[in-house]
Amino acid sequence: MAHAAKGGSVIPGELRAENVGVVVAGRALVHDVSLHVPPGQVAALAGPNGAGKSTLLRTLYRAQRPTSGRVLVDGEDVWRIGARRLAQRLAAVMQETPGEFDLTVYDVVAMGRSPYKRAFQGDDADDRQIIMGALEALDVTVLAHASFDRLSGGEKQRVLIARALAQRTGTIVLDEPTNHLDLRHQLDALRLVRDLGVTAVIALHDLNLAATFCDRIHVMANGRVVVDGPPAQVLTPAVLAEVYHVDAEVTRHPSTGIPQISVIPDPGRRTLP
Ligand code: ADP
Ligand code: MG
Repeated sequence: MAHAAKGGSVIPGELRAENVGVVVAGRALVHDVSLHVPPGQVAALAGPNGAGKSTLLRTLYRAQRPTSGRVLVDGEDVWRIGARRLAQRLAAVMQETPGEFDLTVYDVVAMGRSPYKRAFQGDDADDRQIIMGALEALDVTVLAHASFDRLSGGEKQRVLIARALAQRTGTIVLDEPTNHLDLRHQLDALRLVRDLGVTAVIALHDLNLAATFCDRIHVMANGRVVVDGPPAQVLTPAVLAEVYHVDAEVTRHPSTGIPQISVIPDPGRRTLP
């Protein structure tokens, strides 16, 4: 077993949400969402603030129990496999950074190895190699002995991605992982996830980044997926007007051909004064 426990490459997982609904305090935060991310594909979740992206992601990694429907990782219902087994298959990088760590960066990344250990079992040479590799991949090796709590938001974010990497799972879900990152580290983080070859779902606000790094974009609004498909199909002026209420032009990037969005701030005045 343990496609991921030790060295070697990780086998991409498969993620499926079937008619997932989440009702909290009588309000439907997620309504009848189905999505399938085949092995090795990277899916973006887009949509306005409050659309339900984080809530849906929480159902994917078992932090939120769906009121209806189910979530399958590698064909198994996440509520039917144990938490430890799930952590061997799926890693999550969420928005709320745990605050009460009095841990070094190395220790935080080393937590990614815990799903493979018994209580109090130390790290072996393989673990250390995986941890060092993850630190290196996220450009945080120089911070290894620093206190996690004292890092900047962007550094914390990279450390949490490194922790997910050290977990060596076939599937990763990330909630706005580029939020605090500078331009270089945004590109690096998304390229890294892409190049891992694992299955990923990434909530992303930046649609141009989503178009660049993701195979498919699922756009949510009011708890539903309102449109999904390859970036070129989803990113149209009509969708942007309907979902975000913005007037935008969609062009092809001159060198990559990837669709790129330019928002027109004031439709009445298209040229600079
Ligand atoms: P997104 O990540 O797309 O911005 P969220 O999933 O965080 O959206 O939130 C969707 C909606 O659900 C928001 O209106 C938010 O205020 C609400 N919400 C989120 N969590 C809860 C909760 N535990 N109880 C009540 N409402 C919630
Ligand atoms: Mg969110």
